[in-house]
Parts: sequence; C-alpha cells; structure tokens
Amino acid sequence: MVFNLFRRPKPAAPAPAVPVETEQPEPADQPRQAQAAPQPVIEEQGKNVTQSLERTRGGLFGAVRGLFQQRRELDPDFWDDLEERLLQADLGAHTTADLVDALRERHQRRRFGSPDEAEVALREQLVELLGSERATLNLPEPLAILLIVGVNGVGKTTSIAKLSHFLTAAGRKPLLVAGDTFRAAAIDQLRIWGERTRTPVVAQGPGSDPGAVVFDGIQAARTRGADVVIIDTAGRLHTKTNLMEELRKVRRIIERQVPGAPHETLLVLDAVTGQNGLMQAKSFAEIVGVTGLILAKLDSSAKGGVVFSIAQELKLPITFIGTGEQLQDLAPFDPEEFAAALFE
Ligand code: GDP
Repeated sequence: MVFNLFRRPKPAAPAPAVPVETEQPEPADQPRQAQAAPQPVIEEQGKNVTQSLERTRGGLFGAVRGLFQQRRELDPDFWDDLEERLLQADLGAHTTADLVDALRERHQRRRFGSPDEAEVALREQLVELLGSERATLNLPEPLAILLIVGVNGVGKTTSIAKLSHFLTAAGRKPLLVAGDTFRAAAIDQLRIWGERTRTPVVAQGPGSDPGAVVFDGIQAARTRGADVVIIDTAGRLHTKTNLMEELRKVRRIIERQVPGAPHETLLVLDAVTGQNGLMQAKSFAEIVGVTGLILAKLDSSAKGGVVFSIAQELKLPITFIGTGEQLQDLAPFDPEEFAAALFE
C-alpha cells in the first residue's frame, strides 16, 4: 500500500482522522492503546516550508532573485551572472549548465525580453526539474520495513525519531531497531528518542551483531502488534567496504524475514554539505538500493539548491525534508511548494 503523506482534501462529512487508505483492526494485546488519538498528518507539522527555507531564500537563492531585479537586459553578462549565482546556490555544475542553456534557448526562441519574464521562466524550469509528484511511502500492511541509511552526523537518528513521530500521528504503530551497534552513543540516543516518542526500541549492547538485532526487531514487531519497523544502521565502520558489506547483510536478513522488504530504503543526507552529499548518495544508492531521500537540516542550509541537483542527478525522490531539531520538524516534500517558496 502506498501511504499518502499529505492530508486529503477535507470532505463535507466528518473526515477520517488519518491519511491511510485502510484501517488495521486493533490487535487484542495492544501495548500503546492509551496514546492520544491519531491526528491529521499535515497539521502536525512544525515550521512551514517557507519559514524553514529562510536561509536559502535570503542567502544564496536571494542572490539569484536579486539578479532579475537588478538587471534590465538579458545580455551575455546577465547569463554569466545567473550561472555563477546558481552555482553558488549549490545547484551543481551539471544542473546549472543545463538550466541556463535551456533558458537561453527559450529566450532566443520565444524572444522574451525582460528579466522579469526570465525569472518566471526559471521558476517554471525548476518546477519541471523537480517533477510535480508529491512524496509517497510504500508502507504495506500488516508489516512495513523501513531501512534508514546515511553517514554519521547527517541527522539520521533525529530523522528516525521524527519519522516515528510522524507515523504515530498518522495512526501507525512504529517500532525502532538500533541497528547501528558500532556506536554505543547511537544505541543510547535511539533509546532516548524511543522514550520521548513512546515508541518501543529493540536494541542490544554495543558490538553486537546488527543482523541479530534486526532479526529480533522484526520478531518483536510481530508479537507487539507494531506495523512499521524503522531500522537504524551504521553510518561509519573501519572502512567503507565493511560498512557496505554490513548494510548488504542486514538487507539480506530483512529479505529473508519479510519477503519484498525492505519496503523503503531511505538515505538521510545533510543539506548543509550540499554537493558533497551527492557522492555519498551515489555510493549508497548503488549498494543498498535507495528508494528515497530524507534531506535533513534544510533549515540550516543556505544552499537549498542542492535539491535540484539531487532531482536531476540521482533521479531519486526526496521523500521528506528536515526543517529543524524538534520532533515535528519533518515535512513531506512537495516540489511545487518548494519551488514557490524560493521565489516568494
Ligand atoms: P546522526 O549521527 O546522523 O544520527 O545525526 P543526529 O541525528 O545525531 O543529528 C546530528 C545533529 O543534527 C543534531 O544536533 C541534530 O539536532 C541536528 N539535526 C538533525 N536534523 C536536523 C534538521 O532537520 N535541522 C536542524 N537544524 N538540525 C538537525
């Protein structure tokens, strides 16, 4: 089942409380029945996208917008300047070159003369690049498995906690698995987030076999009536080969336990690192079969332009964006809303 991350349009009759397509019967032994009733997803969100893009809008993307206001003519200087500012906003060399070429061509063909019109054309081009599809998550019932990967420090643990909070608000019953057994701190941190979000956490001691923890986690989900397992994984081992080997092994264990799983493999990227994250993403995508991205720390980044090069170069959907450090600071990615926010 594909899980709609966005609230459905409000029908006239009382709306179902959650945006899931079907409802699961409550298991008889339900450990978390006492929790608050599920809330509509979108209303749970913290900052809106425009607020969380403040740095990108005011900073480097502000410089792109400024160009259209400062210039009167679309002369060669204008195009050079536009190229430079898009590069600074972290759209990356490829994406920038393609965008500027396409705009120039449209300018020559349609002979639009003013910088104002060029701004509208750039915005259209950017929306086209992102595609109009809104994010979805494949969360089949009765048990969906989400594997979360990414290097240390990108915001992986926080994103897992936010995701768990998000899914709980949507009426799902997540369970967290501390599959990063390499770092004791990662296990502790996940436990703390589990307490805060009232989500069960399956963990073993530091140095234990991640495959065994994942196996236990899936078993525990079945016995405890959880319907989404969110698995944290190591973000750094002694070598990259070890890390990728371990991720492959964890994947195999999941596949054996739940045919067709993992249903989503989400890579967490740090928006602040911009273009550097693209290389990381490429390695992970090749080895563990990434299905979507969580772009964390977009609120801290002046380089939101990386979203466009991710769309163009990785061809992977951005499922969520991180918009702050609080639990509710995770927003499903909406390409049109994102592009509109940059030009507001
Ligand atoms: P991990 O090592 O990848 O698990 O990273 P953590 O989840 O521990 O996060 C590293 C730091 O980034 C922490 O200080 C988080 O509070 C912070 N962080 C994570 N996501 C976001 C976000 O979306 N916005 C902001 N501003 N900070 C974030």
